[in-house]
Amino acid sequence: MIRLEKDGFKNFIEELIAEYAVFAPVMKDGKHMFGNISSVEDIDSSRLNTEMSPKEIFFPHSEVLFEYDEDGIRVADGEKKPIAVWGMRGCDARSLRMLDKVFGGDGERPDNIKFEDPYWERRYGDSLIFSVACNEPLSTCFCNWFDSGPHDSAGADIFVVDIGDAFLMDAVSGKGEEFLKGLSGSGKASEKDKKKAAVIAEEAVSLLGKKTDLGELNDKLKGLFHKPIWDSVSAKCVNCGACSFTCSTCHCFDIQDESRKGRGKRVRIWDACMFPIFTKEASGHNPRSLSKERVRQRVMHKYSYFVDNHGEFLCTGCGRCISVCPVNLDIREVIREVLAS
Ligand code: SF4
Ligand code: SF4
Repeated sequence: MIRLEKDGFKNFIEELIAEYAVFAPVMKDGKHMFGNISSVEDIDSSRLNTEMSPKEIFFPHSEVLFEYDEDGIRVADGEKKPIAVWGMRGCDARSLRMLDKVFGGDGERPDNIKFEDPYWERRYGDSLIFSVACNEPLSTCFCNWFDSGPHDSAGADIFVVDIGDAFLMDAVSGKGEEFLKGLSGSGKASEKDKKKAAVIAEEAVSLLGKKTDLGELNDKLKGLFHKPIWDSVSAKCVNCGACSFTCSTCHCFDIQDESRKGRGKRVRIWDACMFPIFTKEASGHNPRSLSKERVRQRVMHKYSYFVDNHGEFLCTGCGRCISVCPVNLDIREVIREVLAS
């Protein structure tokens, strides 16, 4: 474990920028989100969790897959430098591992068919993730429901703890270890530093609400598919899709062609199962025409289907869907209601 004095942080970010396309929390168009930074001054760490999740660094809101005309197809070049992300929270670092099960070549699937999304792979494949521990979790955070916590290092390459006057950094992956070996201006963390980090971690855990046991959730959901619970659960949802768009693990998309006079581009854009036309078929039939069917789909996908397919819940407990929902639909209450049914 190494110790980087805060005085040396500017230097550290400059060195990182020389090697990587660096993303960090920024304020952009009035929104707190991850953005590509060109200096340490661009970083805005005023909020614990960014409003938009960092998934869009690797899975952009809209991206051109290729352009075409009568001469053929051209695929856009990827990033010139590998991506490094500073300031990601542990829940978000874990969400990338979940998305990698969907888009990454090593993702395990029940049918064993390997699919690798090259657009995801070229960004996430050689990225370097710095996950910064949460010292003061928010009231909307419930990562502890998923056997995680505010000082969980899973999903990171380098795990960072802010101990006030310095950052402690610990390598989690081989990539992280390599990076830390060459890091200038740092020294070894002392036993006193480590003890301080342990106390901070304990305090952070104590700030979280009581953990709900999710052991029976998948089975419960399977038995509730046709039950009236979805009427009450979905009653106030206005199907705005904000929960899906800000969610770090939602990953539905649409593919559209924008073309004119034989030239065009194929674009991938985010979509959401909460939108009424998401499942509308060419015939006009819509298998999920009702709001309750769409809310049920989102809950079933996260806490049942993904568990069956990939062995874990598709939720990190980041709480963004709770903060952003205009009608205060709290996913924790939905889960509790399901478990109590
Ligand atoms: S943010 Fe709230 S109202 Fe909007 S789709 Fe999600 S649950 Fe429904
Ligand atoms: S469902 Fe809500 S709490 Fe879970 S990962 Fe998505 S935004 Fe976060």
